[in-house]
Amino acid sequence: MTAQERLQQGFTVWLTGLSGAGKSTIARTLSAELERRGYCVDVLDGDEVRTHLSKGLGFSREDRDTNIARIAFVASLLVRHGAAVITAAISPYAEARAEARARIGNFVEVYVRCSLDELVRRDVKGLYLKALSGEIQHFTGVSDPYEEPRDPEVVVDTERESVEQSVSKVVGTLEARGYVAAQRRVTA
Ligand code: ADP
Repeated sequence: MTAQERLQQGFTVWLTGLSGAGKSTIARTLSAELERRGYCVDVLDGDEVRTHLSKGLGFSREDRDTNIARIAFVASLLVRHGAAVITAAISPYAEARAEARARIGNFVEVYVRCSLDELVRRDVKGLYLKALSGEIQHFTGVSDPYEEPRDPEVVVDTERESVEQSVSKVVGTLEARGYVAAQRRVTA
């Protein structure tokens, strides 16, 4: 496949990482950047998906896998029609991510990494306090497993990088792989 043919194809940026690591923030900023460049972008955010597509599902392994399979299914349809899809779900299990990769095809896995110490410090949604005290059970990273990606296309370290740095790493990979046209850098 030539780079030109690939440019017209859809793709999925699959963000994976613990709650509060920065998936939604990166999804929003990346979405704005790709829209600015003229791409048709769809964001499938985990929290939002769970209120619509996956309403009623819980946090057992089976329900988590079902949730991820549904996101992957919708992403695969959108990708077929040339969309730039960004997913932002914890997606803790490597097997479910591998299935999503196989189903979707044009797949860029981004590990949104952040230490538990920093996540507890941020506690964006107040959930870590509840998870650590046992008020919430099966909380990924505290009382439920998170299988780190072994070979993701991109790793962003949100503890040390700004949002802009993380997003520009992802965009750089999309450009390098021919999913997104490289922009000419204007230097003064
Ligand atoms: P998640 O979607 O993974 O649950 P959120 O995006 O809701 O996480 O929250 C992440 C928090 O981390 C935000 O408050 C954001 O401003 C902060 N943050 C700091 N550095 C980064 C970075 N490089 N990328 C993304 N978020 C970051």
